[in-house]
Amino acid sequence: MVVSGPAGVGKGTIVKLACQKAQGNIHLSVSATTRNPRPIDKEGVTYHFITKKEFRSMIEQNEVLEWAEYVGNYYGTPRKPVEDALKKGQDVILEIEVQGAMQIKKNFPDAVLTFVAPPSREELERRLRDRGTETEEQIVSRLQTAEEELSRINEYDYIVVNDTIEKASEDLLTILRAEKLKQKFE
Ligand code: 5GP
Repeated sequence: MVVSGPAGVGKGTIVKLACQKAQGNIHLSVSATTRNPRPIDKEGVTYHFITKKEFRSMIEQNEVLEWAEYVGNYYGTPRKPVEDALKKGQDVILEIEVQGAMQIKKNFPDAVLTFVAPPSREELERRLRDRGTETEEQIVSRLQTAEEELSRINEYDYIVVNDTIEKASEDLLTILRAEKLKQKFE
């Protein structure tokens, strides 16, 4: 399952809670990125922080499932951990932005795409500012990108509104359950 949504919408928090509730049955992919770590980031846990040169080499070696440039930095999903988790029968969540989500949709037709939407635009801006981790310039840039992302909401299979973290995390788990009950016609 792909989970996208504008910066500041709280998708990281709801995905984390959903994973805790699933007690090890969900593999949360750890992306590689060239952006600088934030104080709360942990190498290998929130991201693999790598250089642009290392990123380019991963692309050349076909080691990423998808990748995108987002507000001046590169982000990509390392291929092997995802393939290993799927082989073990685990559900896999990729928390990625829209361009990457569309690459996954094209290459993996079975993937389920979920968009986490804010209760309102005002609430999104408030959350992004409250996080206090970005400069004004970065906030403006991320709000602009958020508008572009919101305009692509129709390309997703499911929409989860993040009004409360508890409900939104339950919604993610409900989607995973529903997808497993769906009739698949060959
Ligand atoms: P942030 O810098 O706030 O951690 O992430 C910025 C955006 O990049 C978020 O929308 C996040 O979901 C997305 N992102 C994180 N990892 C990946 C990835 O591996 N691939 C893609 N395409 N987007 C990612």
